[in-house]
Amino acid sequence: MTIASYHCPTCGRVYLADRPLWRCDCGGHLNLMRGRAFGRDEIITANASLWRYAAALAAPGAPRVSLGEGWTPLVLRNWRGAAIHFKLESQMPTGSFKDRGTAVMLNHLLEVGVGPIHEDSSGNAGASIATYAAAAGIPCRIYVPAAAPRAKLVQIAASGAEVRPIPGTRQDVSEAALGAIDESFYASHNWQPFFIEGTKTLAFELWEQLGFRVPDNILVPTGYGSNILGLERGFDELERGGEIAARPRLFAVQAANCAAFAAAWSAGADRFVPFAAQPTVADGIATPKPVRVAEVLTALRRSRGGVVAVAEEEIAPALAALGRRGFFVEPTAATAGAALTRLLSDGTITADQTTVAVLTGSGLKAADRIGELLGIAAG
Ligand SMILES: [Zn+2]
Repeated sequence: MTIASYHCPTCGRVYLADRPLWRCDCGGHLNLMRGRAFGRDEIITANASLWRYAAALAAPGAPRVSLGEGWTPLVLRNWRGAAIHFKLESQMPTGSFKDRGTAVMLNHLLEVGVGPIHEDSSGNAGASIATYAAAAGIPCRIYVPAAAPRAKLVQIAASGAEVRPIPGTRQDVSEAALGAIDESFYASHNWQPFFIEGTKTLAFELWEQLGFRVPDNILVPTGYGSNILGLERGFDELERGGEIAARPRLFAVQAANCAAFAAAWSAGADRFVPFAAQPTVADGIATPKPVRVAEVLTALRRSRGGVVAVAEEEIAPALAALGRRGFFVEPTAATAGAALTRLLSDGTITADQTTVAVLTGSGLKAADRIGELLGIAAG
């Protein structure tokens, strides 16, 4: 197969993806070139993982490392009088959607000869990358916020990775990881574009699981926006393959206390707009400075969707309502439920439309915090 290429939206340089690379020489982020068209005849239907779409991936055919990621359930439940499809990304090997991106990114890095890696994460991506690094047999170090939920830190450490807790903000954690780029390869899920190459399989799965149809609306808890960019990329490839005639509206769901995309969206901007970040229980999407701001805003506008910023007090009721429907998810994922309530109430989405809410992470990641939020007595 042909080797994929990166391009830099900042300076226009192009690179062959034939070696480990996470950013451009100019310091800007890299994106993969537009993928090729994809059609249903190329699906390996006997494979119950995201590798059923291997033909569409800018990665080798058979993965070197797989833990069975992808092909997660899509479950229909009633929400305020509307039948909603809940996509259970929480049922991935490490309990969050990150495995989709990690599996494809790490297989690419193994293919081009990566050595020891490190990463920074609020928890879920760190757990995912540490786990896949363990499966691949490569050394791994993860920088995490000192205040990250203990279950996530334990999960990272249990894989054998080195855990480096960093006090301060999420940005301080990123700075610590950037300071280590001379020690090991920075396998950053937020920078390395093959992570988005993996998340695009979410678009393929939703389309296939809905009987080769696209939904009208998709709601996604959003920190850096890798799922939004993956959905955009996946639906683009399906459209060019002649498989779909319309695209779903994409709604990025943020916690109002830390909502970079909401700030840019409401300002009508096409780039980062400074804002004051406050703590939020939705720790997985507390992103003060996303990497691909322009790309995410463009994808949202092109889809005719938008940004929903939910208040802290809307998250616990959504968490409780999801639990009572059989979905034990972390507070970050519950923001999708809160946004669903908001968009159904104000008529942005209606009961006659097909709507998907992506539940990004398992409640087992944050059981103590969920207990506090729901007032569940300890012991
Ligand atoms: Zn550049």
